[in-house]
Amino acid sequence: MPSPIPQSVSILGSTGSIGVSTLDVLARHPQRYTVFALTARERIAELGQQCRRFAPRYAVVASEQGAQQLRDLIKGEDLPTEVLWGLEGLCQVAAAPEVDVVMAAIVGAAGLHPTLAAVEAGKKVLLANKESLVMAGPVFTRALAASDAQLLPIDSEHNAIFQCLPQPYSSLEEAGVEKILLTGSGGPFRARPVGELHRVTPDEACAHPNWSMGRKISVDSATMMNKGLEFIEACLLFDARPEQIDVVVHPQSIVHSMVQYRDGSLLAQMGNPDMRTPIAHALAFPERIDSGVAALDLIAQGRLDFEAPDPQRFPCLRLAREAMDAGGSAPTVLNAANEIAVDAFLHGRLSFTSIPAVIERVLESVDAVELTGLDAVETADRNARELAQKVLGAL
Ligand code: NAD
Ligand code: MG
Repeated sequence: MPSPIPQSVSILGSTGSIGVSTLDVLARHPQRYTVFALTARERIAELGQQCRRFAPRYAVVASEQGAQQLRDLIKGEDLPTEVLWGLEGLCQVAAAPEVDVVMAAIVGAAGLHPTLAAVEAGKKVLLANKESLVMAGPVFTRALAASDAQLLPIDSEHNAIFQCLPQPYSSLEEAGVEKILLTGSGGPFRARPVGELHRVTPDEACAHPNWSMGRKISVDSATMMNKGLEFIEACLLFDARPEQIDVVVHPQSIVHSMVQYRDGSLLAQMGNPDMRTPIAHALAFPERIDSGVAALDLIAQGRLDFEAPDPQRFPCLRLAREAMDAGGSAPTVLNAANEIAVDAFLHGRLSFTSIPAVIERVLESVDAVELTGLDAVETADRNARELAQKVLGAL
């Protein structure tokens, strides 16, 4: 059954890099989509501008004070926008009966509850917030299986894999898939001497050669923890065994990932590195709509390179595999320790090369437990954050 048009969309994290790209795609299709809610933690003035342009039914900010600030900003403009705040407000606009589509684009563990609220309410959920899936693993996938929600990956690699798999998809085995090749650019330090990496600054780490992204995911890309999280994300999304996923470094970010079939076929999804392509794909699936992204010019591109990741340079890839092998709460711990370490690096309190060192110390010090429910996820996440802070303090 085609969905009714127009569809009503909530964007969690509308002022972020993914949020802004999503609004760009929506603005190209005013007949197809209306904006139900916009949310942001800070940058209230920017959220106010978005409200003026898209006239959402709700806007959600982090604090009561922020809510008052936004109300003052848009007062007297005859907007239908009611301003809410806090986690409750986020969950409300993610699960509201009027909403068809939820873009989960908050960064980090803060996105978990609203994303799960959208899943439980049976929405079409566009998942950019990989941390929520990685940290809650089986709890997230059980909630998905128990609901009518449809989850579509926004992460360019997983969106590419999705596009290279038959739909409807049941399992890798039934689809005849042997391997998933997860591509990653190698970030800004792919060719920098390993001995110099301890000196890199937050601004250097955030200057990604191909993608323009938020600061946390930019640092994750520089350490390749982003690929580690994506490896876990791929295991969960496609029900793949860890050994079925290989990471391939591809500096040009044109091939967004590949699927290897048992008959020798290797299917790749390609495109310019612009998140509006996966966003438009997931929004309209199974239809195709204009995203504003120019067609890929392969002749101008000239060449595509592929190489194996260097384990010395990118220890985070090994840590993510170890966490996945340990199972249970180990990916929760990995994600939490990474968030603390990256935040410390961005605030000048930790060197770049100490990021994996902190994560490894935390992973070694905690026994993985079974994730029986959301409480277990939250406990593991909280404990790992506390431990990571202690490890940081001891450095
Ligand atoms: P960003 O930092 O640019 O934006 C994050 C958004 O979330 C902002 O709107 C911010 O206000 C909001 N936010 C942050 N913390 C919050 C909190 N505690 N409570 C409520 N709202 C909060 O990040 P981004 O680059 O857009 O990434 C968003 C998510 O998408 C991340 O999980 C990232 O891994 C994923 N992702 C991003 C890209 C990309 O190209 N940017 C690609 C793939 C996946
Ligand atoms: Mg990605």
